[in-house]
Amino acid sequence: MKLTFLGTGTSTGVPSIACECETCTSDDPRDKRLRVSVLVEHAGQSVLVDTSSDFRQQALRYGLKRLDAVLITHCHADHIFGLDDIRPLNFRYGALGLYANERAWVDIRRIFKYIFEPSHFGGGLPQVIPHTVEPGAPFCLNEDFLITPLGVIHGRLPVMAYRFNDFAYATDLSEIPPETLANMQRLDALVLDCLRFKEHPTHLWLDKALEYIDQIKPRRAYLTHIAHDVKHARDSVKLPAGVEWAYDGLEVKDEG
Ligand SMILES: [Zn+2]
Ligand SMILES: [Zn+2]
Ligand SMILES: [Zn+2]
Repeated sequence: MKLTFLGTGTSTGVPSIACECETCTSDDPRDKRLRVSVLVEHAGQSVLVDTSSDFRQQALRYGLKRLDAVLITHCHADHIFGLDDIRPLNFRYGALGLYANERAWVDIRRIFKYIFEPSHFGGGLPQVIPHTVEPGAPFCLNEDFLITPLGVIHGRLPVMAYRFNDFAYATDLSEIPPETLANMQRLDALVLDCLRFKEHPTHLWLDKALEYIDQIKPRRAYLTHIAHDVKHARDSVKLPAGVEWAYDGLEVKDEG
């Protein structure tokens, strides 16, 4: 299994427009963060989590050649606004499975009404095959690739995290319910939301993220959805062994 970070930034991206802080003006490529998304490749399948507002740029940058499924965590703009850009893949390979929870489907059908209720002829539309996921109800892309949707809470919004065999990806959350913690045992790699050092009402911040990592005990953990408060090199020393700030382009592979 290989997980590639296509983007690790908070909703504004880093650098943030018009900001001249130490991170936003940094030359370190690890301080340049597109909007959050990961690509998970395993058993001949390529799965994208979230069509971020930077999806087109990410697909070109990382040479994305095909996708077998798209999983959505939730419908905030930074996670979903790249959906229209799956069209070149549709033109080549046809419709793409799109997996989201019931709540997200209400928003997807409203935001992208033109996909589901086309009002004119001409102009290619994204082609999706809708699938509704439920927390704790796993599904298989093929016999070697099990995906378990997990429920987490993002402020008040129920959001999906996903477990891929022994990797898990959990962004945009402020709370992990006990049943999800129970489904996060024996992880090789955990990717977890961590916006910044200071508390936040809808995201994890460093102390809280480390508390959860302590409870979950993955073999290694990567923090994502990072704001400009965090400067990669300067702030890496603040993390315990086995925990890293993710950065765009970082690849995580399992031993297998
Ligand atoms: Zn977000
Ligand atoms: Zn800044
Ligand atoms: Zn969000």
